[in-house]
Amino acid sequence: MSLMTGNEYIESLRKQKKRIFLGGELIDNYVDHPIIRPSINACAMTYELGHLPEHRELLTVTSSLTGKTINRFTHLHQGVDDLIKKVKMQRLLGHKTGCCFQRCVGFDGFNAVDTVTYEIDQELGTEYNKRFRNYLEYVQDNDLIADGAMTDTKGNRRLAPSQQEDPDQFVHVVEKRPDGIVVRGAKIHQTGAINSHEILVMPTQTMRAEDADYAVCFAVPADTQGVLYIYGRQSCDTRRLEGGNVDVGNAMFGGQEAVIVFNDVFVPWERVFMCGEYQFSGALVERFAGYHRQSYGGCKSGVGDVLVGAAQAIAKIQGLEKASHIKEKIVEMIHLNETIYSCGIACSAEGRPTASGTYLIDLMLANICKLNVTRFPYEISRLAQDVAGGLVVTLPSEKDFGHPEAGPFLQKYLRSDTAYGTEERCRMQRLIENLTLGMGAVGYLTESLHGAGSPQAQKIMIGRLANLQYKEKMARDLAGIKKDRE
Ligand code: SF4
Ligand code: FE
Repeated sequence: MSLMTGNEYIESLRKQKKRIFLGGELIDNYVDHPIIRPSINACAMTYELGHLPEHRELLTVTSSLTGKTINRFTHLHQGVDDLIKKVKMQRLLGHKTGCCFQRCVGFDGFNAVDTVTYEIDQELGTEYNKRFRNYLEYVQDNDLIADGAMTDTKGNRRLAPSQQEDPDQFVHVVEKRPDGIVVRGAKIHQTGAINSHEILVMPTQTMRAEDADYAVCFAVPADTQGVLYIYGRQSCDTRRLEGGNVDVGNAMFGGQEAVIVFNDVFVPWERVFMCGEYQFSGALVERFAGYHRQSYGGCKSGVGDVLVGAAQAIAKIQGLEKASHIKEKIVEMIHLNETIYSCGIACSAEGRPTASGTYLIDLMLANICKLNVTRFPYEISRLAQDVAGGLVVTLPSEKDFGHPEAGPFLQKYLRSDTAYGTEERCRMQRLIENLTLGMGAVGYLTESLHGAGSPQAQKIMIGRLANLQYKEKMARDLAGIKKDRE
């Protein structure tokens, strides 16, 4: 099978029997659950667009492993063109969904694991890369989603993994057998975990020799025995249970985050891609984070475009689009948003091949991209709320609009320009609420801050990559200071 349609993807999820908890209950049919389904619809868009002629070039590509046409989300980047198309594809998907479409974490994991396993093999004579590429062929041939699972719970942050009072605070190997390993631990903040067919686990940080059992990378089918999921709450999520389609703001699409527990999970050796090679764990983290920091240049600018559009639309609905301060605010939103996108394109354009042949983005520019993303969506959201006005948080429920006594008053008093209906105004206000305060803000704001590493992680990388010594020397030379200093 190759290139599933959106519906085929949704049906493929039904075949997996995952153990999922949401709101204190074990969920039987998660595919049709009203809180979960919009996140599945967002993933389905990554399949659906590949079947539209106008988007095929971005969404599909020829596999470097098999020569077959595959979905780009399962591809190993073969050049700068692939890196740039990735960002463009993500921006497009942001337009179509207005939320996190979740498939990039696995995509970024594939590329990071490919480059690092190749280097482990070169240095240590192991065969991880061959195993990994066999696995990736299976993923490509079946058009699967893998959740790239990196973030451990980390317990007491003062202590290294092996020093923790509870040794399970980082995912680790608890048993090695002739046929595979047994792992225990948990991953948190897992974007799209429940909507994935596979879970690709990577270490969460640089490990030292004493933490070798924690330097483990592997993949398991998402419904493997011992794996369970606990669904993350999102602001306003229970509005999805109310039956309407206005107050949710974005009725069709949404993101998803979950806790994944690995309760003594068996992994056969052919699916183990690192096991004890602690000295490579830092490189794997750095590359995965680098690719995902690039990703934000695409997805966040795509969602940002939707918010710019919403601000423009609400300004028109409320009769303010010609006011100079409104125009100025919208231009400011565009400027910030295009700056995010520019960084995504720039780190891709400066990409280089790694030893495995898979291309890596420019890490400095990817970190700049992500650091901007930790700030600009907040400012864009502030401006959108400024343009929208207070109704974004004071609007009554859509049920009140339908009430025989209250409804007509709301229809009368909450109408603005009569060319637009009251409902149009409410829908646009709710979309802005969704993106800046509600379910959409999970992906657009807080994930922009902490996803792919919190701002401090980018600052550390920027400081490390900046070559300050060289910059200082340039300044000294031009200032006519001959003496060299450390
Ligand atoms: Fe993709 Fe963006 Fe969601 Fe990450 S936050 S999975 S890059 S859509
Ligand atoms: Fe993310």
